[in-house]
Amino acid sequence: MKEWKCPKCKKIVTCFPGTSRRDNKSKICSECCTDEAIFDFQVALAKQKKKIFPQNFIDLEREWLIEVDTNG
Ligand SMILES: [Zn+2]
Repeated sequence: MKEWKCPKCKKIVTCFPGTSRRDNKSKICSECCTDEAIFDFQVALAKQKKKIFPQNFIDLEREWLIEVDTNG
């Protein structure tokens, strides 16, 4: 497969792109797709168990959200 740059992690990848859960149109690498799924899962889990969600996780996801917003 052709090399392409994932807009989320900025890595050059060759995997099949997936659609971001954040805007339902951005094409991101499979690793980032997994990250988003894990993020959502962790948020749900944190809410359930009233745990503190790691701030660095939120910051990273927020950066991507801002980018998604500016592009679309
Ligand atoms: Zn990526």
